[in-house]
Amino acid sequence: MKILIATGNEHKFKEITDILPRKTKTGEDIEYVSLADIGGLKLPPETGNTLTENAELKAVYAARESGLPAISDDTGLEVEFLDGRPGVYTARYAGEHADADDNNRKLLNELEGLFLGKRAARFRTVACLATPQGKVVSFEGALDGFIGFGYRGENGFGYDPIFIVAGTRKTLAEMTDKEKNAISHRGRAFKQLAQHLQVLSK
Ligand code: IMP
Repeated sequence: MKILIATGNEHKFKEITDILPRKTKTGEDIEYVSLADIGGLKLPPETGNTLTENAELKAVYAARESGLPAISDDTGLEVEFLDGRPGVYTARYAGEHADADDNNRKLLNELEGLFLGKRAARFRTVACLATPQGKVVSFEGALDGFIGFGYRGENGFGYDPIFIVAGTRKTLAEMTDKEKNAISHRGRAFKQLAQHLQVLSK
C-alpha cells in the first residue's frame, strides 16, 4: 500500500514518517512516498482561512492528482501577545519570500522588551488524510510554550530555535527528533492519524 506525504519539506517528511505505521493491521507493508518520488507534483497555494482548510485543500488535491491516499498538514504559530498572529500566515510572516530566519527575527523584534510571562505561544497542526475516492479526515494537535529571547539549539526547522516548550527549559531545536515527536503539535496530530490508518486497514 502506497501513501503520498504531500509536503515539500524534507524535515517534515521524516518527522511524519517516523510516527506513522510501517504495516497495516493485516501485515501489509505501507510505503510512504514523497512529492519528488511521484515526479514533483506542485501543491496549490494555501488560500484557506483556517489550518484545517489549508491541510484539506492540499491533501484533496494531492490525492486526486496522484491517485494515491495523500496526507498533508498545516501548522500555525499563535502568539498570545499578538492576538494569535501569525496563525495561518506563519510561513509568510515576514513576507511572501521570507525564510525561517526572517520570520524568527521579525517575531523576536515584535516581542522585544517583554518578559517571559508575556511571550506565551502555541503551535497548532492539522493533519489531513484524503483518498482519491474523496474521503477526508482531519486531526489536530497543539503544543504550548513561549517565544524565547534569541536562538537556541541546532535541530529541527522553522521556529524551533525560538520556541521554548512549556514545562521544560528547552527550545524545540534543543530536543532530539525523538523528544520532539513525542510531544510536538505535529506528533500529536499524526499519532491520531496513525491510529485512524490502523483502523482503516483492519
Ligand atoms: P507548514 O504549514 O507546515 O508549512 O508550516 C507553516 C510555518 O510554520 C512554516 O514557516 C514552518 O517553518 C513553521 N513550522 C511548521 N512546523 C514547525 C515546527 O514543528 N517547528 C517550527 N516551525 C514549524
